[in-house]
Amino acid sequence: MSLADKVSLGSGADFWSTESVGSVAKMIMTDGPHGIRRQTGASDHLGLAGSEPATCFPPAVGLGQSWDVDLTRRVGEALGREARALDADVLLGPGVNIKRDPRCGRNFEYFSEDPVVSGILGAAWVNGLQSAGVGASLKHFALNNAEHDRMRSSSDVDLRPMREIYLHAFSHVVRTASPWTVMCSYNRINGELASQNRWLLTELLRDEWGFDGVVVSDWGAVADRVAAVAAGLDLEMPGRSDTNAPIVAAVEAGTLDEVAVDRAASNMAALAARVVDGRAEAVAPDLEAHHSLAREVAARCIVLLKNDGGLLPLSPDRSIAVIGPFAQTPRYQGGGSSHVNPTRLDVPLDEIRFHARTVTYNRGFTTDGSEIEPQSSAVAAASAADVAVVFLGLGEGQESEGFDRDDIEVPQDQLELLTAIVGVQPNTVVVLAHGGVLRLAPVADAAPAILDGALLGQAGGAAIADVLFGVVNPSARLTETVPIRLQDCPSYLNFPGENSHVRYGEGIFVGYRGYDARDLPVTYPFGHGLSYSTFEYSDLVVASHESGIIAHVTVTNTGDRSGREIVQFYTSKLDSVIARPPRELKGFAATEVLEPGSAEQLSVSINRADLAYWETRTDGWIVEGGSYEVSAGASSRDIRVTSSADVEGDAVDIAFTADTTVGEALRDPAAAKALGILGLSLGTDDDALGMDTARMMADIPLGRLKAFGMGQDEIDAIIARGGFIGSGSGG
Ligand code: BGC
Repeated sequence: MSLADKVSLGSGADFWSTESVGSVAKMIMTDGPHGIRRQTGASDHLGLAGSEPATCFPPAVGLGQSWDVDLTRRVGEALGREARALDADVLLGPGVNIKRDPRCGRNFEYFSEDPVVSGILGAAWVNGLQSAGVGASLKHFALNNAEHDRMRSSSDVDLRPMREIYLHAFSHVVRTASPWTVMCSYNRINGELASQNRWLLTELLRDEWGFDGVVVSDWGAVADRVAAVAAGLDLEMPGRSDTNAPIVAAVEAGTLDEVAVDRAASNMAALAARVVDGRAEAVAPDLEAHHSLAREVAARCIVLLKNDGGLLPLSPDRSIAVIGPFAQTPRYQGGGSSHVNPTRLDVPLDEIRFHARTVTYNRGFTTDGSEIEPQSSAVAAASAADVAVVFLGLGEGQESEGFDRDDIEVPQDQLELLTAIVGVQPNTVVVLAHGGVLRLAPVADAAPAILDGALLGQAGGAAIADVLFGVVNPSARLTETVPIRLQDCPSYLNFPGENSHVRYGEGIFVGYRGYDARDLPVTYPFGHGLSYSTFEYSDLVVASHESGIIAHVTVTNTGDRSGREIVQFYTSKLDSVIARPPRELKGFAATEVLEPGSAEQLSVSINRADLAYWETRTDGWIVEGGSYEVSAGASSRDIRVTSSADVEGDAVDIAFTADTTVGEALRDPAAAKALGILGLSLGTDDDALGMDTARMMADIPLGRLKAFGMGQDEIDAIIARGGFIGSGSGG
């Protein structure tokens, strides 16, 4: 292939497709991720022009709440079948960015504030999709956690949170699901554009994680294609041929190694080969079956936040006042490039009418403020009925891709209406629709029962009715903390940044890690979700072995309805020598539907590697040795059973320097002996100076001991002999 041909493979042909060169087939990419946005007419990436009808599954904000690996995989498979039928070869998803701050306008496209949930569900989705012969595009790689200034802003983040929080899900998906493509993000990372970041796209993604697919740019993310190709970009999208000549010129001038162009071209050819194989797997989608799947999934995504007095489920015999425009015009997906044209749409009001005999409807408010809606008729209807079901939330204009929210408030007119309704109708159920977290304290104070649907896709209306009337017993769990106040968010002071820099100042303390570490009360904790039944956890048995920890717990349905329970497994390292959150999610598991009184044992394996923290001094992962607390809980704040396991740690292999402190050196047995001979040990507690001298000495660097009367030769000898700073607790 000529240089010009190789280069043109990497520039795309038009908005959605790549060039066909020689035997390398043209490929079609399309959004995603919760449905196929296949544009056959005008093209855009903002969801402006129309697209072919396709099943709209719950966006990631809803799907994440299911915590359901199998169902997520089945969604991926269904998406794959539909993509194939619409001639799409690569579906642009999943998004596994961390929800760092609830104001991020695109949080609805991401799974969680937690990297483990995001990684596991992201991998299930990719595995499902690709099993149908359609490639995934893992996005937005990486550190794209805000919409504000997204094409310019630098996410300034330390290596430890970068590794432990922001890259974890990407790494998990790449290693366990081998996505065919990865999409690099718009933003900068510590000053360098993701699209031109060699460390990110080559050293980390390919060399360390073993990625063997195509790196595609987000649409318009490339500022300098020569620099991007050198860094590891294979495909610039959307297609634009004017960037080909500069690449050819750079190779000819010797400023770009042709090896980089060869790599990009051969990655494109390999992708095309996968695509051609995938096309052979086409199975015509059954759209009816996909709608049923969308309904099953949506019901699994609805979180029962509150249910005082067992108000839910509703009996069909009760008269119901349905209130709120979302009951008639559901809000079921987010705005922007992921916007899908659904094959059909279930309307909550119709579905409620299907179940119950006496149903009235009042709009109560508008979402765009276009009209002043009198509340009186809604309040009167609520008062006259046995139960009020009030649909609240955010309208399409209030959150979307492309901008962040300024606050997380439920609109004031909706809260006023709710207060008025609850004043006349104690049996009030709130149903929420929204893409980003809302401040729910005023809703929780007012309403005895709350269902949180987030965004549920095209079958959400039927799913809401299924849960309201108890056809489905809710089992979903929050994947984000609902804070009491926006100001409590760990990222509050560092969002959205200024002068195109966002300092990730909260470090690893993102989401519940930050709320728990500061012991802040929250309205609803990460992992929270009730059931119409109750479950008891018992017999937590934890064992450690060479490759990690295995935990078993027994879950018993102690209520009087059948239902399933999702159990979260957290670890804590109470004596850690590094800063750690009080608990970190390491895995989760769900029971089958359990009949009342029956029990099931659940197991989770925690890989040893998942216990590691990122040690910045050695630039590597380290497992601290010693005891780990392992607990099984129903949320990060509802830990039911706890046990512990001993894990053998890694030695932290850091050679001594003049900057090594006495305290650090004392962790090495040989150095401790030498220092002991010189009269330095941490065992002595000399209060001659009226203070704990030993603790003070611990922080003195070896190189400065001379100032405290020690001979330079003796100091040099200890430094020269060297030693290794242990991880502090075993190893
Ligand atoms: C979004 C991507 C999307 C692409 C193509 C971009 O604006 O960030 O998520 O896949 O457009 O529509």
